[in-house]
Amino acid sequence: MSEELRAGDGLLRRARRAMPGGVSSPVRAFGAVGGEPPILMRGHGATVTDVDGRSYVDLVGSWGPLILGHAHPAVLEAVERAARDGLTFGATCAAEVELAERVLARFPFAQRVRFTSSGTEACMTAVRLARGATGRRRIVKFEGCYHGHSDALLVKAGSGALTLGRPSSAGVPDELAALTDVLPLDDEAALERLFEQRGREIALVLIEPLPANAGLLVQRPEFLRRLRALTAQHGALLLFDEVISGFRVAPGGMTQLTGITPDLVTVGKIVGGGMPVGAVLGPADLMDRLAPLGPVYQAGTLSGNPVAMAAGLATLEQLARPGVYERLEQLGARLAAGWERALSGGGGKGAAGAVARVGSVLWPLLQRGPLPRALHAIDAGVAPRYAALHRRALQRGLWLAPSAYEVAFVSTAHDEAAIDRAADVFAEALAAVPADAPEPRAEAPA
Ligand code: PMP
Repeated sequence: MSEELRAGDGLLRRARRAMPGGVSSPVRAFGAVGGEPPILMRGHGATVTDVDGRSYVDLVGSWGPLILGHAHPAVLEAVERAARDGLTFGATCAAEVELAERVLARFPFAQRVRFTSSGTEACMTAVRLARGATGRRRIVKFEGCYHGHSDALLVKAGSGALTLGRPSSAGVPDELAALTDVLPLDDEAALERLFEQRGREIALVLIEPLPANAGLLVQRPEFLRRLRALTAQHGALLLFDEVISGFRVAPGGMTQLTGITPDLVTVGKIVGGGMPVGAVLGPADLMDRLAPLGPVYQAGTLSGNPVAMAAGLATLEQLARPGVYERLEQLGARLAAGWERALSGGGGKGAAGAVARVGSVLWPLLQRGPLPRALHAIDAGVAPRYAALHRRALQRGLWLAPSAYEVAFVSTAHDEAAIDRAADVFAEALAAVPADAPEPRAEAPA
């Protein structure tokens, strides 16, 4: 073992001594795929490098923010310039006003935005605002959708909560969870039944219009339209959680692509360009119920932080250049085609499956049959198969999300060579995954 490897090992041990599981966010511990998580040191463009000096083609992109890749020169320059003028004021700054205007320009239904420091806070704020505005208590979410880790929303959530095999979390009082109804995606009948029973008690329905935290469960537009119609009819507010899809699938996210107008939108990730930013946005009359104008309290010492605002602004400026989304579409399609060739059993080796994709968001699914649109349609056998794939891909220098239920992100920093490398490594790794990888015990992902 080289000196450097021992250095990396030592750091992992220290991480595990100092932090629960050695991480600051659970999925990073590789619990769902096994093996030792490399500790990362550098990211440039489409590549990340660990403390042992091993480089990987990165398809995680910090879970979505890095649509321009790591350390994009324009973002770095903006951050450096902002940092020289002060890291935080706790007062409104110029970049914040500019970013607010730029975000609102992408979501024309909205006239006001409130910045937070994470997607979790943005969704949590939306829940309080909806309850405050409607005077109702109940909220509704969908199985497998993730809206951050606030108490009310950590019920049958996706993302890390899903891969841990825990639909919910210890420490969330039953009384609070009881105010959250959870429905399956892609099921108009279930929606209609719930609204018939208690439509007048519902303050807010939250949905990821492109559910991307339990695989990529692309919804039928009719389902989203029915949801919009039912919420409006019963006086419930509708939130599109675009923390992943906002600025990613189109400048105005799924709100733009579907043409459906929600009451509130949350964004995060890309809007901070790699710095901690979230936001909730909506029409003036609703948003002005937030303090200081209205009675719904919400605040944050570091909200609207000048360095984070500068990173977000620089990122959105780059995204406004011509051809960016076309390029992301091309690269996404190229990677999907490569993965599909491998998954359609070219050579008859390895597990079979398919790829779900919208633009630069991809989900490789190690399961035969039609692409699922709801959590319960995902075969629990995908998890052990994906774990085997993940380990082999990592060894060969491909950084995939450490969970079968997380998506892959392509950035503008991925050139054709990086995409082809990601496709080749995937195919090699897949060929070594037995088609009949162990079926799971009765541990359904739901
Ligand atoms: N909503 C969605 C759709 C997300 O994907 C996430 C995080 N992956 C969140 C909310 C929470 O955001 P954060 O991790 O910044 O708190």
